Amino acid sequence: MAERVVVIGAGAVGAAIAVETAKRGFAVTLVEPEPPGGEQAASFGNAAWLSVQSVIPPAEPGVWKKVPGYLLDPLGPLAIRPLHMPFIAPWLVRYMAAAWTRDRVLKIAEILRPFLASAPRLNAELAAEAGVPELVAATSGLMHVFRDRAHFESEATSWGVRRAVGIEWDELGPDEIRRLQPDLDPAYRFAALVGAGGHCRDPGGFVAAVAAHAERLGVKRVAARALDFAFSDDRLTGVVTEAGTIPATRAVLAAGIRSDALARKLGLSVPLESERGYHVRFEGLDAGPGATPIMVHDRKVAITRLATGLRVAGQVELAGLDAPANPRRAEVLRTHLLAVFPGLADRIRAAVAKTWLGHRPSTPDGRPVIGRSPRPDVLVAYGHGHIGLASAPMTARIVADLLGGKKPEIPIDGFAPDRFHAFAGHPA
Ligand SMILES: Cc1cc2nc3c(=O)[nH]c(=O)nc-3n(C[C@H](O)[C@H](O)[C@H](O)COP(=O)(O)OP(=O)(O)OC[C@H]3O[C@@H](n4cnc5c(N)ncnc54)[C@H](O)[C@@H]3O)c2cc1C
Repeated sequence: MAERVVVIGAGAVGAAIAVETAKRGFAVTLVEPEPPGGEQAASFGNAAWLSVQSVIPPAEPGVWKKVPGYLLDPLGPLAIRPLHMPFIAPWLVRYMAAAWTRDRVLKIAEILRPFLASAPRLNAELAAEAGVPELVAATSGLMHVFRDRAHFESEATSWGVRRAVGIEWDELGPDEIRRLQPDLDPAYRFAALVGAGGHCRDPGGFVAAVAAHAERLGVKRVAARALDFAFSDDRLTGVVTEAGTIPATRAVLAAGIRSDALARKLGLSVPLESERGYHVRFEGLDAGPGATPIMVHDRKVAITRLATGLRVAGQVELAGLDAPANPRRAEVLRTHLLAVFPGLADRIRAAVAKTWLGHRPSTPDGRPVIGRSPRPDVLVAYGHGHIGLASAPMTARIVADLLGGKKPEIPIDGFAPDRFHAFAGHPA
C-alpha cells in the first residue's frame, strides 16, 4: 500500500511538495485552513523574485554596528521594535554571527547556490504543469540599481562572494539602464543585471494554481489547522487536525512561520523569527519597471510589475508575530516608489493602493530546515526566510527524494534541522 503522506501548510513550499510527492506515487493529503496562496501566507505578498543571486545571508558583515540605529528608527529598512528586543536577542546574536566574516558568508553562499541555481526554470516548469505558464517569467533578468559604481562597490563583500560561487551579471551604465528602465530616476547611474534571474507574475495566484494542480493529481485537501501528531511506538499514525485525525505514515511540516509550535511537539527546536515585510500594490497600474524587476539599493525595496499591477515590497521589521502592522511603513514604501519613478507620480497617486504585512519564516543563518525531525516519520521543510518562493520547487524535490529513500540531487547537510543544537557562538 502507498505511504500516506500528510503535508501541513499550502504556501509556496507545501503546495509544491504536495505536487511533487503526488507525482512520485504517494497518497497525499494537504492540510491548510485558509485558501492556498491567500493573504495569510508569506507566499502571497512577496516581491516575486526568482533570484539565483539571493545566496547571501540577510545580515551583512558589521551589521552589529547598526543595531542602535535599528532600535531608534521604526521606519528604516531594518527596524527592531524595542519591546521585542528581549525576546529576539538570542536569535539576533546568531543572525549577526552568521555573517560575521567573509568566510561565513561564503560558506552559506556555497550551500545556497545549488539550492537556487535552477529556481527560475523549476518554477516555470511547475507553472506550465499547473496550467499557468504565463505566471512565471523565467528569463526576465533581475536588476539591482545603484546611484553610482561607488555604491555598488560599498557592497563588495556580497558581490564578491556571489562572483566566487559562480553568479554572473552585466554591469550597466546610465544609457543601458535608461534603455531597459526608461521611467527610472536618472540619478541611478549604475546597475548589476543578473540575466539568469526571473520573476513570478502573481505569487498568490501561482500558489493557488499549484495547489489546484495537486488536487487534480489526486491530492486530498483538508481545510483545517493541524494541531498535533499521533504516534504509536514511535511510528506516526496520524496528523491531528481541527477536523479530526488524518491517518498517515509520513508527514511534512511546511507551515511557514507557524511551523514552530508543531516542530516543538516533535522535539525540534529551531530559532525561527518573523522578519516582517510589507508591500504596497497598485492594482491595475501598468507602469514603473519594465519587464525586468528592480531592487533599489539605497532604499532597500524591490519593485516588480506583476500581472495584477505594480508592487513595491521589502523592509525587515523585527517585532514578533502578533504586533499590529505599522501603517507608516506602507507609506514609506509608497514614498520610495514616487522618488524612484518621479515621472509617474500622477498615475501612482491616482491608483488604488493596497497594503500588506507578511511574515518571512527566518532562521538566523538564512537557510531553511529541510530533513528529518527527531521523529523520523515526520520531515520538516520551513524557515525559507527571504527565498521561499524561489526555492519551493527544489525543496519539494528534496522532500520527495527523502520520502522515497533517494539521495537528493543537491547536498543538503547545510539544511540539517538539528544544526542549531550545535551552536556555540558560531553557526554550525
Ligand atoms: C515582503 C516580502 C518579500 C519577499 N520577497 C521574496 C522574493 O522576492 N522571492 C522569494 O523567493 N521569497 C520572498 N519572500 C519570502 C517568501 O515569501 C517566503 O519565504 C515563502 O513565502 C515561505 O513560504 P512557506 O510556504 O514556507 O510559508 P507561507 O507562504 O507563509 O505558507 C504557510 C502556510 O501554512 C499554513 N498554516 C499555518 N499553520 C498551519 C497549521 N497549523 N496547519 C495547517 N496549515 C497551517 C498557513 O495558512 C499558510 O498558508 C518575501 C517575503 C516577504 C514578507
